[in-house]
Amino acid sequence: AQAALAQAQKMEAVGQLTGGVAHDFNNLLMAVLGSLELLRKRLPDDPRLLRLLDNAVQGAERGAALTQRMLAFARRQELKPEPVELNRLVRDMGDLLQRSIGPGMRIETRFPTGLPPALVDAHQLELALLNLVVNARDAMPEGGTITVAGRLAEDAAPMLCLSVTDTGTGMDEATLARAQEPFFTTKGVGKGTGLGLSMVHGLAAQSHGRLVLRSRPGAGTTAEIWLPVAAREAPGQATAHGPEAVAPG
Ligand code: ADP
Repeated sequence: AQAALAQAQKMEAVGQLTGGVAHDFNNLLMAVLGSLELLRKRLPDDPRLLRLLDNAVQGAERGAALTQRMLAFARRQELKPEPVELNRLVRDMGDLLQRSIGPGMRIETRFPTGLPPALVDAHQLELALLNLVVNARDAMPEGGTITVAGRLAEDAAPMLCLSVTDTGTGMDEATLARAQEPFFTTKGVGKGTGLGLSMVHGLAAQSHGRLVLRSRPGAGTTAEIWLPVAAREAPGQATAHGPEAVAPG
């Protein structure tokens, strides 16, 4: 499970990097191609100059085709947000989570009944939860309890919180400040990729939520993934007859 997780983290990071670079690069190349076409109209009828221009256009077109391939690769990692019952997701991952923790550890779950579903990519959230549980495990070399909990907070907008709490080493302020940075790890070469929390942070941010870390050295850590509540479609209220359909205007 450990190697698979590290692999998934790397693929995720490569995908995000590729997608971002390809997107920006494509925009640049489109600007270059546009300028070259304008130039073609203004160029004097000199075969040598036209050949140079054709070379430049061909190069830019080849680059654009390459960025298209890169985008196609990155698009596979695009998020598909859907309503997700947090307690069901955690229950379904039970065996996998059990196998990821060490001896002398146990996982406790706390979910109030009647939590609304969260709006998030289910597969990515599974990966995020696995990351948090593995971090909790790594922080408790002497064993202990990992608590996975869900709750609803109704401040300005209702938000759901999926949290993982350990009773492990905790983090000092400097570590806490950098923990979500990509490639930041204190686990040593070959052990940590430093991509776990940055992936969780990225997922939370892209889901219009956030990742909050609370930690005290020696006392343990709580990682909270905050997610928006999925709008529940009221039964018997087909969208065409919903309130917006009768609104004036
Ligand atoms: P990795 O686990 O590969 O090191 P992460 O991004 O998941 O990468 O974590 C970055 C760093 O944050 C870890 O190396 C560790 O120092 C710290 N950290 C993360 N989770 C915990 C935790 N539950 N308890 C203590 N430290 C943690």
